[in-house]
Amino acid sequence: MPGRILVVDDVATNRLILKAKLAAAYYDVLEADCGQAAFDSARTEQPDVILLDIMMPDMDGYTVCEMLKANPETSHIPVVMVTASSAPKERIRGLSVGADDFLVKPINDMALFARVRNLLRVKMMFDELKLRDTTSRELGLPEFLESFDEDALPKDTVMLAPASKLQGEVWRSEISKMPGVEILGTCDEHEALNMARLEEPDAIIVHQRHIEDGDSLRLISAMRARPETRQAVMIYVVSDGAIETAANALDLGASDYVLEPFEPEELTIRLRTQLRRKHHSDKLRSNMRDGLKMAVIDPLTGLYNRRYATQHMQKIVNRARDSESEFAVMMLDLDNFKRINDIQGHEAGDMVLQEFSHRIQENVRGVDLVARMGGEEFLVVMPDAGAMVAKHVSERLRRAVNSKPFVTKAGEEINITVSIGVAIGKPSDDEPEKLVKCADQALYEAKAGGRDLVSFHEAA
Ligand SMILES: [Mg+2]
Repeated sequence: MPGRILVVDDVATNRLILKAKLAAAYYDVLEADCGQAAFDSARTEQPDVILLDIMMPDMDGYTVCEMLKANPETSHIPVVMVTASSAPKERIRGLSVGADDFLVKPINDMALFARVRNLLRVKMMFDELKLRDTTSRELGLPEFLESFDEDALPKDTVMLAPASKLQGEVWRSEISKMPGVEILGTCDEHEALNMARLEEPDAIIVHQRHIEDGDSLRLISAMRARPETRQAVMIYVVSDGAIETAANALDLGASDYVLEPFEPEELTIRLRTQLRRKHHSDKLRSNMRDGLKMAVIDPLTGLYNRRYATQHMQKIVNRARDSESEFAVMMLDLDNFKRINDIQGHEAGDMVLQEFSHRIQENVRGVDLVARMGGEEFLVVMPDAGAMVAKHVSERLRRAVNSKPFVTKAGEEINITVSIGVAIGKPSDDEPEKLVKCADQALYEAKAGGRDLVSFHEAA
């Protein structure tokens, strides 16, 4: 995994040692010898991870971290604080200013690399999601998706898998102080996987000795692999400074770990940081889904748009060839629609288009493709349908329009008719555009023949 790492330390020897380790693992290493240089380099060089010394002459690591997190150009870059002391109070202070983790000097290589890999993975996921989010926006995402109100989020559910009942009670009493969090309850080793699957928790806290034979690492990797818990926050609690086990947990998919003994507050701070990160990525993911939807759906009628229809028709053509079956292509066009917009106004026009879409959908099968091609022109493609079925359905569609008036919000009744052109595709037809053209020609004939008609394209 490539990555650019900024090493910040006022002592040249310390920088050299870290740089040698990281460069040997093929990371690209940048250096800074004081807080100000670190901040400047983070802004201009945009490293993927920052390893930040705490004790420095110009300003301490906490201050640098606060500055980085307060600046939108650097707030997304993960920070690992490097410290000589492992006092829990210091950890809490660092986590409170936004640090992602702590490494104690002399640095354990396994812990260093596992954490760097973990943070790079997280950052790459975010970069990728942001990129796709941007693409969705460029495809035309409405502005309401911009707003992101953290207070309006539903409660986060947290599942506890402690080493003992007593420990579970301690965790519960601390975590239940967090606003917006609901605890799903503690569970024993047999329940853990089941509960995770059924309840789909937002976060799971697992103790190293939750499973007696010490195989709780397997639980972590199993939960990470399952669809129900793939996106869940997983925090691994490790006893007796088992830093290498913690490092393994990160590589197997844990989001974070806590080393015992810890202040209960440390667990909640780490949990909150991870949950915030999850909210952010969930939001980006759902933006992306909405964005993709926007790209293929016509917003007025909720039908597929021309872009989707063109692509999907190719699939119908291929399937017809494979199954040696016919399929029907219909172009529908509301008669004298312009007059409605001109006389009754656009709002009435939009209502007619929506109601028309509705009537089409009520009169075709679920497998049929219905799309708005633009303006008052619609397409229906029916797989596995020959001339007989097409004739029956197109007549039904025509009657569904002319048999009862469209009613505006104001209660005004509008009588309207539709003209329909039909072409029947053969298994040998491999160009969807050609069939649409044939249906278009038939539609023209229906219009020329006096409207409110169905016309079939006569194959040569
Ligand atoms: Mg120092």
